[in-house]
Amino acid sequence: MDDTIGLSILTLRDTEQERAHDFTPSTFDDYIGQDELKEKLSIYTQAAKMRGEPLDHLLLFGPPGLGKTTLAHIMAQVMHVGIKICSGPMMERTGDLVAILSSLEPRDILFIDEIHRMPATVEEVLYSAMEQFRVDVIIGQGAGAKSVNLPLSPFTLVGATTKSGKISAPLRSRFGIVERLDFYTDPQLQAIVAQNARFLELDLSLDSALLIAQAGRGTPRIAKKIVRRVRDFAQVKNNSSSDIEFTKQALSFLGIDTQGLTNVDRLILSKMIEHFSGGPVGVETIAALVGEDKDTIEQVYEPFLMRKGLLEKTARGRQIPHKQLPFLKQLFLGQATLL
Ligand code: ADP
Repeated sequence: MDDTIGLSILTLRDTEQERAHDFTPSTFDDYIGQDELKEKLSIYTQAAKMRGEPLDHLLLFGPPGLGKTTLAHIMAQVMHVGIKICSGPMMERTGDLVAILSSLEPRDILFIDEIHRMPATVEEVLYSAMEQFRVDVIIGQGAGAKSVNLPLSPFTLVGATTKSGKISAPLRSRFGIVERLDFYTDPQLQAIVAQNARFLELDLSLDSALLIAQAGRGTPRIAKKIVRRVRDFAQVKNNSSSDIEFTKQALSFLGIDTQGLTNVDRLILSKMIEHFSGGPVGVETIAALVGEDKDTIEQVYEPFLMRKGLLEKTARGRQIPHKQLPFLKQLFLGQATLL
């Protein structure tokens, strides 16, 4: 089976096309799961709205695709304020950040994704912007250059990061609220799958929704991508519905087995067995062996394999737990298949 199918399902970002024909929750009620966090944010946003003040700066951390950007949009909607979205690595120069900051209206939300990847010089500009709603900008060059202290509209920064450990202490301390998002349970993902199937006018049975949820790695973005592909499969087969048998066929077509493992997961495990007798082996080596980048291995594949008990992290690298090794060896070296 073609490995690229598995890859396309698990990309870290949505494509523009996907976003254009997509169901995205626009209220806290439509946003499924993360109940505790949702309740807190709902209270904070309502209180700030009643006071007519911007919300405290908020740092959200958690793996990609769990709904950080969506939450920021919902908060903007509740507060009836604008939202600007940008990402840390996009802001190469301080001028890039200042341009965005000075375009914000009072109480607007600025969402910075992957905030840990912002260059240090740009990050420093953010400190005074967050604390005093002012920035120092240098105008002109050479001897004629002068520093101007520019006032900004009071705004809320929502920073998102997949790596909380990479956030510098001075930046972290400037966030009034720090919260993490957890992977979704299968029933929560099942509800998200059903919500999207309804939007896509795909008649999906409850057990099919659960099967897709189990393949969704606790991550709405991945579960949603699978729903879209199942819908494609149903459409081509002239079907507007997908029962359990049809869904199993569709998943198998996508290279996803009954345990929710994709071709890439199986490739990771088989290469570790073939070349390193199950490990330990460094994550860079795994990435090179399967032709994926290290971040995707760490953020998408590893957490799922670890939760399945098929991979563990040790001081010397990643390894397949001893008790799983005989079974997996037989599976991969014996050319058997999980499908
Ligand atoms: P992140 O910013 O954490 O990478 P996004 O907010 O972009 O994740 O969410 C990824 C996709 O999953 C979006 O299409 C979003 O609509 C959907 N999604 C995320 N969380 C939820 C949720 N709790 N309920 C329903 N859909 C969700």
